[in-house]
Amino acid sequence: MTRPTNFLLAQLPEADVEAVLRHATRVQLRLGEDLVTPGDPIVWAYFVTEGVISTVNELSDGRSVEAFMVGPEGMAGIEAATIPMQTASRQTIQVKGEAWRLETARLRTLTLERPALREALARYHAGVQRELEQTAACHALHHAERRLAKWLLRVHDRVEGEVIKLTQEYMAAMLGSQRTTVNEAAQQLQAQGAVRYSRGVLHVLDRPALEAAACECYRKVVEPLAA
Ligand SMILES: [Zn+2]
Repeated sequence: MTRPTNFLLAQLPEADVEAVLRHATRVQLRLGEDLVTPGDPIVWAYFVTEGVISTVNELSDGRSVEAFMVGPEGMAGIEAATIPMQTASRQTIQVKGEAWRLETARLRTLTLERPALREALARYHAGVQRELEQTAACHALHHAERRLAKWLLRVHDRVEGEVIKLTQEYMAAMLGSQRTTVNEAAQQLQAQGAVRYSRGVLHVLDRPALEAAACECYRKVVEPLAA
């Protein structure tokens, strides 16, 4: 059997991977598509193999901010891995790709039978929780340029290559910042030679420079993506 390139699945015993994939369907993740919107039951779990799913919190005045992102290191829908849950946020495709999708109800049944799967999901969920705690401090206390650098690194960790398609409106919505603030922050990163940004396409030119520009939160929440 081909091992999936989802690192959460890849750390499991072969029998657990087979049990998950037996009930899973391969699905495309299309850029901009919403998987769930606020109030929806979390029916599906997505083990991402390529691309990025963002969980975005929206306020009644239309502003929004990203709570966390999921790439090939993890799974969207982890909130419903233990008990049935509704979402308070929007899950949207930030970078197109593919995932293994299976029903969260099925996943819950599997976790009752398979302790290694249950532990892996619990560990991952704890990591997401730690990230959310760090993000709360980050949003309140860290400067926009350093937050943008951190966010770009986290996207870069989850995609192939050095080119990321992102509009300024989108980055502002993810960071909970004004577009002008994101523009200034992107220009500063560009002046440092870390990135080049033009017409919705961002090139990572100097990864160490981007890391130096990022706030400490990047290092605190970074997870190894290699299997
Ligand atoms: Zn920070």
